[in-house]
Amino acid sequence: MGNLLVNTRDQQFVLFEQLKIEDLFKTERFKDFTKEDLLMILNEAEKMAVEVIAPTLKEGDKQGCRFENGKVYVPDCYHAAYKTYCEAGWIAAAEDPEVGGQGIPASVQFANMELFGAANYAFCMYPGLTHGAAGLIKNYGTEEQKNKYMYKLYSGEWAGTMCLTEPGAGSDVGALKTSAKRLPDGKFLITGTKIFISSGDHNLTPNIIHPVLARIEGDPPGTKGISIFIVPKYRVNDDGSLGEFNDVVTGGIEHKMGIKGSATATLNFGENGNCIGELLGKEREGMRIMFQMMNEARLGTGMQGLDLGSAAFEHAVAYAKERIQGKAIWEMNNPDAKSVAIINHPDIRRKLMWMKCHVEGLRSLCYFTAYCIDRMHVAETPEEKEKWEGFLNLLTPIVKAYTTDKGLLICSTAIDVYGGYGYCQEYPVEQYLRDEKIAQIYEGTNGIQALDLVGRKLAQRKGANVMNMAMLIQQNIARAKGVPELGKYAAILEEAANACFDLTMYFAQVGKSGDFLIPILYACKFLEIFGDVLLGHFLIDGACVANEKLQAIYEEKKAYSIGQKKALEREDKEAAFYSGRIASAKFFANEILTTVKARCDAIKAGEKVPLEITDEAFTY
Ligand SMILES: Cc1cc2nc3c(=O)[nH]c(=O)nc-3n(C[C@H](O)[C@H](O)[C@H](O)COP(=O)(O)OP(=O)(O)OC[C@H]3O[C@@H](n4cnc5c(N)ncnc54)[C@H](O)[C@@H]3O)c2cc1C
Repeated sequence: MGNLLVNTRDQQFVLFEQLKIEDLFKTERFKDFTKEDLLMILNEAEKMAVEVIAPTLKEGDKQGCRFENGKVYVPDCYHAAYKTYCEAGWIAAAEDPEVGGQGIPASVQFANMELFGAANYAFCMYPGLTHGAAGLIKNYGTEEQKNKYMYKLYSGEWAGTMCLTEPGAGSDVGALKTSAKRLPDGKFLITGTKIFISSGDHNLTPNIIHPVLARIEGDPPGTKGISIFIVPKYRVNDDGSLGEFNDVVTGGIEHKMGIKGSATATLNFGENGNCIGELLGKEREGMRIMFQMMNEARLGTGMQGLDLGSAAFEHAVAYAKERIQGKAIWEMNNPDAKSVAIINHPDIRRKLMWMKCHVEGLRSLCYFTAYCIDRMHVAETPEEKEKWEGFLNLLTPIVKAYTTDKGLLICSTAIDVYGGYGYCQEYPVEQYLRDEKIAQIYEGTNGIQALDLVGRKLAQRKGANVMNMAMLIQQNIARAKGVPELGKYAAILEEAANACFDLTMYFAQVGKSGDFLIPILYACKFLEIFGDVLLGHFLIDGACVANEKLQAIYEEKKAYSIGQKKALEREDKEAAFYSGRIASAKFFANEILTTVKARCDAIKAGEKVPLEITDEAFTY
């Protein structure tokens, strides 16, 4: 049995066989790496996930965070795990050595993060946000700010947050009221309340560094007038030691459905008129700067869907192989037939297949997105950099929303596979579902992500990013059509991709000349269609690679008949793996891609019932 969290064979398949990340070693930035190095890192990450983080999952959920006498306490078991995690250098693993990192490719770090998140996502939020806050200071901070804060964040000695949300400013960040008043020494007096702040207060580290969005007195309303400030919980003396309390008072923590080990705090800045913040970057550029952290966090949140979906799937398969219940369908009339493991029932097999193809497709989608970051870093020309950056921009809202929507369904399907036990705390799948739900909401709800996709991302660079993606998919279709085993499925992908890109054009037209409310109304539906097409693309691309390898194994082992091939799969793990990857592509094409055109047509029909119905008619 594997680690019950992530299929590490599939991780390696995506990284080395599908994305071929070894090509990165030819570049200056990654020239010192070998495949063996990266496999060793992945192996260490698996150990960290299984031995250190996973044991905190259940206890962290049960104990949760506590707010006592104005202080926040994380689950007790988090302390040792956090120390081990930080000492191993995981926070900065993908950063340059100059800031304490190992400079590993982002694609590999995403694979590491998948393992960690599958082990306990709530725990991972502390180092995750810390990494994001450090990155902001790395890119926009002064040398003094870097020396004061950044290194201690990357090492995990101190922790970080991101402070946007306020009671009246959730999705509409521009409505924020937190203010910044100039002080004679160039610093600012910060006053305001931020709510729902993940890792906002806790006892894991002696100091917490808050990047806070606020408006300097006199600056214009809306997002244009927002600046960003570094606000430490404790002020930092010139020699780096901790100074006095900076008047960041914790009002309380939320009692949540899931991620109970992650403290979600209300923070009152300057309740006593004594909270000092330092400007980060330039005045009124707060939104642009914070977007760096938000985009990183959006990908991290998207990964939450993959992480928990993966763990839920691995558990469901293991359970289905063990749970004995009911007779096999072909023995239903035999009174003497023995009961079988539920994996023998067609409906359970279909559910497992649905989960499997989504988990594998999402893994390819997420790692590809990280690979775009790697490619951006090593691009030799501005055009090449633009191309990869364009993919990253286009894919970010899709990774955030599509992966978390599907991740939730995967967790829910895992509960169905378990039956009644799945709903009970004895097994972890109910926690996966509870921990996963929030991923659709924070970091900009999935509804807001869909608006970002149709309202901004499709039109970016005059549509060049979408065109490049369409070209990539077309190349894949052309290749797959030439593979006898996959031609039929490539044709299904072609019809789905054509329908999706026609709909994109239709959105562009009605956006300019006609009914712009159609793209807005159906943005979520469109994002799902785009995600489905991308998953179909990645699965068929993976199946082409897998098919080549599988045919070579058949040839080598002289397996020619269907019987010989099946027998081989039962004893040869590699043959079984590749065969499973091909099965995923076929199933996804038939089950999901065949419905894409009809869904596109339904959108183009222009029905606007939800807009036409009166508020009063929604319910009696
Ligand atoms: C556990 C947890 C952790 C969090 N961590 C952080 C954190 O670390 N830092 C931080 O700053 N925030 C954090 N948040 C806040 C989170 O990002 C917000 O909850 C989220 O952005 C939605 O804002 P809201 O809750 O005010 O909902 P609202 O903005 O009130 O939205 C309610 C609904 O209306 C929809 N909606 C709103 N406006 C529009 C529109 N213009 N068009 C279409 N639909 C719209 C939304 O999609 C949503 O479905 C966290 C929240 C939770 C619950």
